[in-house]
Order: sequence, then structure tokens, then C-alpha cells
Amino acid sequence: MVDNESTLESDGAVYKTLLESTKAIPWKIDWATKQFAYIGPQIEALLGWAPSSWVTVGDWASRMHPEDREWVVNYCVAQSLAGVDHEADYRALTRDDRYVWIRDVVHVVRNDDGTVASLIGFMFDISERKRTEQQLISLQKELEELSFRDGLTGVANRRRFDAIMELEWGNAQRNQQPLSLIMLDIDYFKQYNDHYGHLEGDLSLKRVAWVLSSAATRARDLLARFGGEEFVLVLPETDATAAHALAERCSRLVSDERIAHEPSPIGHMLTISLGVGTAIPGPADELLTFIDTVDKRLYRAKQRGRDCIVAG
Ligand code: GH3
Ligand code: MG
Ligand code: MG
Repeated sequence: MVDNESTLESDGAVYKTLLESTKAIPWKIDWATKQFAYIGPQIEALLGWAPSSWVTVGDWASRMHPEDREWVVNYCVAQSLAGVDHEADYRALTRDDRYVWIRDVVHVVRNDDGTVASLIGFMFDISERKRTEQQLISLQKELEELSFRDGLTGVANRRRFDAIMELEWGNAQRNQQPLSLIMLDIDYFKQYNDHYGHLEGDLSLKRVAWVLSSAATRARDLLARFGGEEFVLVLPETDATAAHALAERCSRLVSDERIAHEPSPIGHMLTISLGVGTAIPGPADELLTFIDTVDKRLYRAKQRGRDCIVAG
């Protein structure tokens, strides 16, 4: 009998030692009084608040990030009342005014009559995991960004063009607003590569993309690399006159760059040809037909001798 009691006593000591040497922080709340019956001393190392300062659930709630407080408290109270074990992630306030991400895992202890007797739980420091999660989220965003950008020039890629063009076509159809499209292509670029080499060709492509990206300035305007040495400009709510003026601006910006193109028959400088189109699409009009029309105008600009604009 005496032996058993001393075993129990030493068991208690063992459990206490175990509880207080884990990284997880144990705690117990008496449900009737909403007071802490116990909190592990590890809490002080993690948050800076001494165990004696955790008196009521109010202390717990007040040491929580204001953005987390309402939903965490409501959720934990509702789960506890329903007698359901639960867990919640939230930012706990440290004594020196920082926040630490905590996962609180809660077990609901019930009386014989089914009412809640107490809550027993463990707090885990999950700040490292949250940091990794945040890093993963921002990496994912970066990847999404990259998947819409052309690797060489940094402007939007074909995929983005397809998506935006479809969206703006729908907008133009709905709002009966003019949508303009400019398609442009560098003249004699094959000869450029043959003469200066592919790497120099890449550099010039980047320069052309760079100057073109300054041509259109409205928030919804989009410059994209359509493929090879061909670019497109999507111009929502832009009429034919404004689109033509923009095409002229593109042509001038490229010629102002004065990129030497020795084998080009046009003044030995790098030039572009452009096709321009504007549509106020009706419900039966097809986007692909519109793109095809503008592409054919670009082709006609090439046939006319290049370094020019065809707009109708
Ligand atoms: P045109 O005046 O009729 O447009 O003649 P072009 O020589 O420019 O047209 P073509 O379509 O015959 O050739 C396009 C050239 O563009 C061929 C290809 O080597 C080059 N090109 C396409 N993409 C790239 C690229 O990313 N880098 C480099 N350096 N060259 C490219
Ligand atoms: Mg070309
Ligand atoms: Mg081409």
C-alpha cells in the first residue's frame, strides 16, 4: 500500500518532468472558472510571459494577434462547448512585442454527465513551419509570374497574350468599346542573325522589346512577344486613330534606337513592319478572325517593302 503510493508519487514527478522538458507547452484550463489550472514553464522561454501571469482565458485571448483573436476564440469556445477536440493556429504575442506562430491542440475533458470539465492542451511553436509556408507561397507566386513572361525579353509571353486578348475581346463585346491590336515584326532579321550571330540577335530583340514596352502607357495596354521576332500590342478602349498613332510611335522608337543592320536594304538600320486593326466586336464576331485580319495586314506591310504600317 505504502509502496504503491510512493510509486504514484514518483510517477507524478516523472510525468511532470516529462511534461516540462518537451518542446510542446502543456496547459490545463478549468472550464467552470475559465482559469488556468496549469501551464508549463516552457511558455516563458517561448513568449517571455511567466507561467504565473497566465491566470484566465482572457490572458490567453489578449496575447493573440488582433487579426486572429476573434475567429480563434469563437472557434475554440464553440468546439469546446460541443465537446470536440480541436486545434488552432494563431500568432501569440511575446512580452517584447513580437508574434510567434503557435499551434494549440486541445482535448476536451468531460464530466460523467457529459458537461465540459476542463480543457487540456499543448502549444507548439510552428513559426519555422509558417516561415517555410510563406516562402513556398511567394515562390509559387513568382513561378506563376514567370510562366506568363517571355524568358528572353522579359515582356509578356504568348500564353499571356492569348489570355488577355480573350478577356479584352469579351470586354469589348460587352461594353461595345473599340479594341485595337498591333502586330509587328522585325525586318530582315534572318539576315541580321546571319551577319551578326544569334547572340547579337538576342540582344537586339531585347532592345526592341525594351523600347516597345515604353510605347503604350495605359494600365490595360499589353505588350507581348508573339513568337520569334514578332510582337503584339493589345490596346483596349482604343480607336483606330489612336492605334495608328501608337503604331507610328513604335516604328519611331525602334528607328530612334539606331540599331545597325548592315545587310538590311533599308538604310542599314533595324526596322519593323506593322499591321494594325480595330474592332467593336458584335456577338457573332470571332476573335481569331480579327487576329487573322491584323496578321494579314502585317504581311501586306512586308509585301509593300517593309518599314511601314498597314492599317486597313
Ligand atoms: P521579314 O523581313 O520578312 O520579317 O524577314 P525575316 O528574316 O525577319 O523573317 P523570317 O521569318 O524569315 O526570319 C525570322 C528570323 O528571326 C529567323 C530566326 O532565326 C530569328 N529569330 C526568331 N526568334 C529569335 C530569337 O529568339 N533570337 C534570335 N537571335 N533570332 C530569332
Ligand atoms: Mg521578320
Ligand atoms: Mg517573323
